[in-house]
Amino acid sequence: MSEVEHYRTCPLCEATCGLAITMNGDKVISIKGDPKDVFSKGFICPKGTALKHLHEDPDRLRRPMVRIDGELRDATWEQAYAALEAGLFRVISETGKDTVALYLGNPTVHSLSASVMTIALAKLLGTRNLYSAATVDQMPKHVSCGLMFGRPDHIPVPDIDRTDYMLIVGANPWVSNGSLATAPDFKGRLERVQQRGGKVVVVDPRRTETASGADDYVPIRPGTDALFLLAIVNTLFEEDLIDPGDVADFVTGLDDVRHAIEGLTADRVASVTGIPAHTTQRIAREIATAASAVVYDRVGAHQQAFGTLTSWAADVITTLTGNLDRPGGKMFALAAHAKPDPDSPGGRGWAIGRFTSRVSNRPEAYGQLPISVLAEEIETPGEGQVRALITVGGNPVLSTPNGARLARALESLDFMVCVDPYLNETTRFADVILPPPSVLAKHHYDFAFYGLSVRNIANYSEPLADAEGPDEWDSLARIAAVCLGQSGGGDPSFVPQMALAQMVQEATADDGPLSGLDPAEIMQTLTGDNPVVAIADFRIRVGPYGDLFGKNPGGLSLELLRQHPHGIDLGPLEPRLPNALRTKSGKVELAPQPIIDDIPRLRTLLDRDPDDLVLIGRRQLRSNNSWMHNVPKMIAGSNRCTLLVNPADAERLGIGQGMTVRVASRVGTVEVEAEITDDMMPGVVSLPHGWGHSEPGTRLSVAGSKPGVSSNDLTDEDEMDPLSGNSVMNGIPVRIEVAVSA
Ligand code: SF4
Repeated sequence: MSEVEHYRTCPLCEATCGLAITMNGDKVISIKGDPKDVFSKGFICPKGTALKHLHEDPDRLRRPMVRIDGELRDATWEQAYAALEAGLFRVISETGKDTVALYLGNPTVHSLSASVMTIALAKLLGTRNLYSAATVDQMPKHVSCGLMFGRPDHIPVPDIDRTDYMLIVGANPWVSNGSLATAPDFKGRLERVQQRGGKVVVVDPRRTETASGADDYVPIRPGTDALFLLAIVNTLFEEDLIDPGDVADFVTGLDDVRHAIEGLTADRVASVTGIPAHTTQRIAREIATAASAVVYDRVGAHQQAFGTLTSWAADVITTLTGNLDRPGGKMFALAAHAKPDPDSPGGRGWAIGRFTSRVSNRPEAYGQLPISVLAEEIETPGEGQVRALITVGGNPVLSTPNGARLARALESLDFMVCVDPYLNETTRFADVILPPPSVLAKHHYDFAFYGLSVRNIANYSEPLADAEGPDEWDSLARIAAVCLGQSGGGDPSFVPQMALAQMVQEATADDGPLSGLDPAEIMQTLTGDNPVVAIADFRIRVGPYGDLFGKNPGGLSLELLRQHPHGIDLGPLEPRLPNALRTKSGKVELAPQPIIDDIPRLRTLLDRDPDDLVLIGRRQLRSNNSWMHNVPKMIAGSNRCTLLVNPADAERLGIGQGMTVRVASRVGTVEVEAEITDDMMPGVVSLPHGWGHSEPGTRLSVAGSKPGVSSNDLTDEDEMDPLSGNSVMNGIPVRIEVAVSA
């Protein structure tokens, strides 16, 4: 065999970098950035090269596992399908579909097969117990955008390549490479903002890597970002700096905002946020007077008790300063697979709280319940008690609050099936594990992140290696088939075919983009050996740049993307308002009632005594939540699972560099090495998440060699943002004492 260079989009994080992968047969020789990639232009982070290890990792499951006599054992696919059918069907027939919970982990949205098929699975299962990683880190953005713009997936992204001013709140894109803003080489793009005379300001309780490269770093007390941002809004009102610009004619609620936040001034909130009033006022003026500006709020700003208010306030500032939907501001991407905007704005609007959780009456958001209530839904007897769980690509025992309690709850389930490549801290409780193929053996087109991209891009990747077993779509379709009362061992392709047929039917209706075309002929054109790829092709062809099956000659199709292995650049973001708005009013609704109603709760922060010491999380370049820790290169070097402590706190508590400290919260205790650094603001400590690989019963030999501790043994499942159900991962009150001196 000879070596061949292939091109592929990295699916590991949101940045969608182009990779140049040299293979010899199924063996990976090297992975580099693809200099010809139209978007990433050769950029790659250390995780991209880890795909080689993930592909070759001996711990990655190649065969299913089935629990036999209480023990998870390697099994044949037929044994796994039989166990799936018996276990899941029994629960559904005895207690109904609502007693089956579905949890979708973060990797789900990085997989073409999983992102398509989990939608079908959720629909066919029809359970109220739908959970995902979204309520760990991003539901506030869905909620505020759903209420303001009418659709929870209408999320404006920073037009970083053209902006003159970037206020970054609670994000560390030098390390994460961006989130809810797809931008390979985010660091380079930020540096170019500065090179062209712009300014980057970072607000964070920790002087992060991004903050160290910013023009201005402003420390803030965890959990108070909404107060800071609303004080900026108040300054804009006070100093007559409001000018929504081109969107002025389709914005409502401006006076309601002004009224609702009265009194939350820069002076009034300063003692709570820790940010001097003059700094807040200066930032407000800088945003208002910059040629263009964005407020980029992300994980740290959303994982808190006022996450939705923070997310909303950021987009209110953007709107009030004329930076919504204009170059250099925050804009809406238009992905190749998206539905084109209609000719006029307006729609049914969007709502939260259409149903609530059974035990603690937490409202749904985006059809999902907060992941923090899953444990109580499993533990609490009564009608509707969760008895079975399906997980797809997730490890909630390490990645969601009070993971130890969730682990105990999972152990009590009647049945659990996981679609996952690893026997990890969560899947060890499964009755059946159905592993997906290696990432390099999968087709890839990014359904999730091209809709959040800072430039409109399309790219399609063919599999580079042979799959060791069935594709992920196959396993997910089999689970869906069992939910429909059918055999888990039959041909599951009818599930995606049903979804495709419905899309074709809608598109060929009289008012559809393919009216006049024959649905049967289209189905015939599309049907191949991989129905998920057929769905991707269909959506691209009826999308805003699509060939419309001949109606728009030269338009996009999967075939055209195949001919462009470095991707196709569809151009910079274009204004999409007002027609993209789906609110009832057809306008940007600046003052949605649920948000306005939550502001009195925020005001209570003003009179609350601050906690002595609070914990925040930390993102690391070589981590991707919990699942990159089995890659030797990703955990090489000194211990990275350390507790960052400010020198003043260390002195007060008698903590020396490298000492082992005991950190305790309401829900648990961990012992971890202290790292003293003035990067932390006083009164705040930081622990990275995704660690804690010392549990028995896993098959993660590399991760187990440097296990670290789980920050989610400290986070509290009772603490969440009530509007979005997002867990509070930042601002956890903790007590610290020395356990072992260095
Ligand atoms: S930044 Fe993300 S997409 Fe790019 S190489 Fe790293 S992990 Fe892959």
